Amino acid sequence: METIRTVEWMKQVSRRARAEGRLVGFVPTMGALHAGHASLVRAAGRECSPVVVSIFVNPTQFGPGEDFAKYPRVGEADSALLESLGVEFLFAPEGGEIYPPGFSSFVEVGGLGSRLEGRARPGHFRGVATVVLKLLEIVQPWRAYFGRKDAQQARIVQQLARDFDLDAQIEICPIVREADGLALSSRNAYLSPEDRRAATVLCRALAAARAGVARGERNAGPLVATMRQTLAREPRATADYAEVVAADTFEPAATLRGTCYALLAVRFGATRLLDNMLIEELGGELRCTV
Ligand code: AMP
Repeated sequence: METIRTVEWMKQVSRRARAEGRLVGFVPTMGALHAGHASLVRAAGRECSPVVVSIFVNPTQFGPGEDFAKYPRVGEADSALLESLGVEFLFAPEGGEIYPPGFSSFVEVGGLGSRLEGRARPGHFRGVATVVLKLLEIVQPWRAYFGRKDAQQARIVQQLARDFDLDAQIEICPIVREADGLALSSRNAYLSPEDRRAATVLCRALAAARAGVARGERNAGPLVATMRQTLAREPRATADYAEVVAADTFEPAATLRGTCYALLAVRFGATRLLDNMLIEELGGELRCTV
């Protein structure tokens, strides 16, 4: 695996691969890699060659008082994992490469970015969209892979690709979970053992909503109430939001029509965890995917 530190070098490598007729697959990450990231890399490896993975803890998507400074940085372990997965290129630029002095242009995300995560973390999606646009411009992949764990982010990236006529196809991959159902996240490392045990409340709340759907509930209100009740019974958890939204707009859904998400953001002390369930209407039936 070749580790690339500069934008120019990354562009050259990618340009050469495209000129050779190769299909570049790209997985952007912030490092502290886990099996969720590995699943994106494997998906890319099945469809593309070469695979480029970026590791960049993007300062512009962290708010003041958030965990930018303490976000886990574990360079060597990440490199070893990516090497074992057969990744050809690791793009790991320094901050100054991506945001050189005088940098001044940002992507405004619009309505999709103002709700839920956007409301809880002002400026977050502006930072995400800006860095993703830059990375997609630098790497110019055939396909780029994102996790459904961050469903609103994935939807915003799809919209970004559409709005700026990017060539990259945006692929959205399933959520990888621990054996007890907790969605893998680099931030799980912050949890105390007690909070780690309590954190299964997110997938338990989604399971309660799924049980509601299985019993025939088609209105969002009772499902939201079920999720909030489940979260409220866990004293270590503070719910930021529990909502059912339309998958295209992320506006609250009244009924389960088309494709929806049940979305959760829950705090354990200073650690904020996300989870979601995809609810799809298929031939009159509803299919729930956690
Ligand atoms: P991050 O390093 O947290 O910015 O995440 C990089 C990519 O990995 C994003 O597209 C995430 O949605 C995805 N990801 C994070 N956790 C998971 C997971 N548990 N399952 C699948 N994808 C994930």
